[in-house]
Amino acid sequence: MLIDSHCHLQDRKFGEDMADVIGRATESGVTAMVTIGYDMPSSRRAIEIADAHENVYATVGVHPHDAKTLTTSDGEELARLAESPKVVAIGEIGLDFFRNLSPREDQYLAFREQLAVARAVNLPVVIHSRDADEEVYEVLAEHAEELGAPEDRLIGVMHCYPGDLPQSLRYIRLGFAISIAGPVTYAKSNVTRAVAGAVPLTSMTVETDAPYLPPQRVRGQRNEPANVRDVAEFVAQLRGTPYETVAEETAKTTSRLFGLTTSVAERAGGAR
Ligand SMILES: [Zn+2]
Repeated sequence: MLIDSHCHLQDRKFGEDMADVIGRATESGVTAMVTIGYDMPSSRRAIEIADAHENVYATVGVHPHDAKTLTTSDGEELARLAESPKVVAIGEIGLDFFRNLSPREDQYLAFREQLAVARAVNLPVVIHSRDADEEVYEVLAEHAEELGAPEDRLIGVMHCYPGDLPQSLRYIRLGFAISIAGPVTYAKSNVTRAVAGAVPLTSMTVETDAPYLPPQRVRGQRNEPANVRDVAEFVAQLRGTPYETVAEETAKTTSRLFGLTTSVAERAGGAR
């Protein structure tokens, strides 16, 4: 088992060769992929792709970059889209005070509104956080409190989380998983390496964020879900753990987070 917990198969860079991309992922041992929405059109498209491919799941949400575009009717549509059987989370949502492509007030509004949707439809959330750690933590702490979730339940994931180990552990205590992406393989990623080496696998997922963030081996190229193997292999090396353990344990965490347990386990136990 190996799951790419975060990719964007609906990106323009895929399309022509999407079937090949999914085929290569399967060949490299990827048992499931979660294709992540970032605005309304990409959320609708994520569902279409998931409906067409058994091992692809979808999330729906509006990224902080596009927060200024979110309308009230979009919030209602997100709740409707979330009812679709292959939709496993709301996201990616959050705050990005690095690029500030939407005004901060709009980012806050969109973030809070979509967390409310997640609570209403009872789905976990996929979080994008950049240069806004304290602010994101505050909002998510409120969300966790509103949920009153039991301690062992995962309520979301910090996607490609750039924070350090103490910051990561703080999110884990709130009920979040920490997702490790391709940049862990870059030479200067000491902070992320420390996180990937220490966070319990029961709270860790791996991802590509494809077509973005290619791991070192394919740096400069279009990234794709097959390369999540590079991430899992690197994490295994860092921890001195067999690759199979990291692949399997992070897949279990991802399944638990997104509620894939039954379907993915059935597939993994299948003929291949
Ligand atoms: Zn992403």
